[in-house]
Amino acid sequence: MRSREKVRRVDTKFVFVTGGVVSSLGKGITTSSVGALLRARGYRVTAVKIDPYINVDAGTMRPYEHGEVFVTHDGAETDLDIGTYERFLDVDLERRNNVTTGQVYLTVIQQERQGTYLSQTVQVIPHVTDEIKRRIYEAGEVAQAEIVLVEVGGTVGDIESLPFLEAIRQMRFEVGRERSMYLHVTLLPYLGTSEEFKTKPTQHSVATLRGVGIQPDGLVLRSKSPFPDEARRKIALFTNVAPEAVFSAYDADHVYAVPEMLEQQGLARWIERQLDLERVTPELRVWQDAVRVLRQPDANVSIGVVGKYVAMPDAYLSLMEALKHAGIANHARVDIDWVSAEGVADGDEADLHAFDGILVPGGFGVRGIEGKVRAARFARENGVPYLGICLGMQVAVIDFARSVAGLDAANSTEFDPYTPHPVIDLMPEQLEVDGMGGTMRLGSWPMQVRPGTRIAALYAGRLEAPGGEGTGVVLERHRHRYEVNPAYVERLTDAGLVVSGVTPGMAGRGAGLVEAVEVPDHPFFVGLQSHPEFTSRLMRPSPPFTGFIRAAVERRRAASAAG
Ligand code: GLN
Repeated sequence: MRSREKVRRVDTKFVFVTGGVVSSLGKGITTSSVGALLRARGYRVTAVKIDPYINVDAGTMRPYEHGEVFVTHDGAETDLDIGTYERFLDVDLERRNNVTTGQVYLTVIQQERQGTYLSQTVQVIPHVTDEIKRRIYEAGEVAQAEIVLVEVGGTVGDIESLPFLEAIRQMRFEVGRERSMYLHVTLLPYLGTSEEFKTKPTQHSVATLRGVGIQPDGLVLRSKSPFPDEARRKIALFTNVAPEAVFSAYDADHVYAVPEMLEQQGLARWIERQLDLERVTPELRVWQDAVRVLRQPDANVSIGVVGKYVAMPDAYLSLMEALKHAGIANHARVDIDWVSAEGVADGDEADLHAFDGILVPGGFGVRGIEGKVRAARFARENGVPYLGICLGMQVAVIDFARSVAGLDAANSTEFDPYTPHPVIDLMPEQLEVDGMGGTMRLGSWPMQVRPGTRIAALYAGRLEAPGGEGTGVVLERHRHRYEVNPAYVERLTDAGLVVSGVTPGMAGRGAGLVEAVEVPDHPFFVGLQSHPEFTSRLMRPSPPFTGFIRAAVERRRAASAAG
C-alpha cells in the first residue's frame, strides 16, 4: 500500500484513544490536551476523529442533539471535536480528519461496484478495516505528522465501533509497539454513601476492550476530584496497566487547565517513553496565562447570545470558545447569557439592557427570527455593541432595511418567500441544489476588506495578499445558502449601511458578495457573513470577537464610572 510505505519514512507514531463506561466523558478534551502537550514540545501532531455513526458527515445532524457542526477550511462539515483539536493543537485540519462509518462504507461499496474487489466476497475484515486504516495512515501522511492522535468515538462495547477497534488493533501489528499506544479514557464514579471511588466500571470496560484484542497501555480516569493512590493501585492491578500509567482527569474549573493538569502527572513524559521520543521540556505559557486571566480577570462582561438552541450550549461551542479567547485577550472574563430568540417579544427588548454586548449567532429556519431582528435593532438604536454572525448579519440587514432604509416588510426569502423586499436571498448557485449534504457555500472564502472601515482596522496585520493601498484579503469559513441581495446593496448603503467586506472579484462565483456590514457612529456594530469563530484560537483570537469584547469592556467601564 503506497501510503503506508511513505508513512514509514517519516516514522509516524500513533496514539489511539478509546472511551469506556459512559459517553460525554470529555474524551475530546483529553485527546486534545494530549495533543497540546505534544505540540508544546514541538512535535508535528495531527488528529483523527472516528465517528461510528452512519451519516457521511455531521452536516445533516441536529445541533440540538449532537452539538455544533464544525466547518474545516476545505469545507467539510464535521464533528465538534475537530474544532477542539484545531484550537488545542493550533493546526488546521481537513475533511479527512473526521472519519465516519458512512464514509468508509460509501467508499467500499463504490469500489465494489467499480469492480475493485472483483471475484472477492467483500467483508468487514479485511475490506472495511483496510479502508479505515488507509484513512488513518493517509491523514498522518498528508499532515507529515510525527504523531497522529486517533480518537474512536462512542463507548467500547458499542456495536458500531467494532470495525474501528479491530482496525486500530491491527495497526499495532503493522507499525510496532514503539510506534503505537492505546490510551483508554473511563469514568471513576464516587459513591457518597460509601465514600469511595468505585473502580468496577473501569475494570469492566478494560475487560471489554481486551475482549476485542486491545490491552490499553494507559488509563485516564475522569472523576470529580483527584483519587487516592489506593484506587490507582487497585485499578492498575485489575486492568494490567502499570500504576504510573493511570492518570487522573478530575473536573477542572476551566478546560484550559486540563493540559497542565495532565502535564503535572507526567502523562506526556510517559508518552515520550512509550513511543521512544526524545525528552523535551514543554512551553505551556499560553495555557497558564489563559487560566490566570480566567481565575482573576480585570473585568467581567456579560454577553447576551440570542439564538435558537440556547438550552444546548454545545450547539455553539466554537462561538463560546471565540468569546473566551477574545475575553482573555482583553483580560476579561466573558459571561454568556443565553437568550431564547423566541422570547424577545415586541416591546420587551428592555431585558437586553442588562448586557454589555449582544451577539446573534448563525442559524437556520424561521423560528425566533423576529426576536433576532429585534435584538439587532435594539443594539443598533441603543449603542450596545453588536456582533452578528452569518444569520446574525442577515437579521441586522433585515432590521436596517425595514427601520432605516424604509423597505417595509423586508425579509430573507428563507423566512418569507413572498416578501416585497427580499434583501436576503438565495445565492444564485444554490438555485440548482437539491441534495442536503454538503451543498451549502462551505469552507474558507476570501473577503476583500474595505479600507477605512472598522473591519479593516480589526483585521489590520492579518491581511493576506494585499491588493493595493491599505486593502487586503482575509480568509474566513462559511456555511450558508443565502446572501445579501446584490439588487438592494445600493439602497442599503445610501441609507447609511457600510459594506466593509466583499468577496473579491476573482474569476468565477460569488464576486462582489457582501461579506461584512457595519453601522457607523455606533460603538461597535458589525455583521459578518462568515463564521470567524471557527478560526479563533487562544494563541490567535479572532479579530471581530476581540473588537466586540473590547467594546463591551469599555461599555461596562463607562457604566460603572457613571455609577
Ligand atoms: N440560514 C442562513 C443561510 O443559509 C444563515 C446560515 C448560517 O447562519 N450559518 O444563509
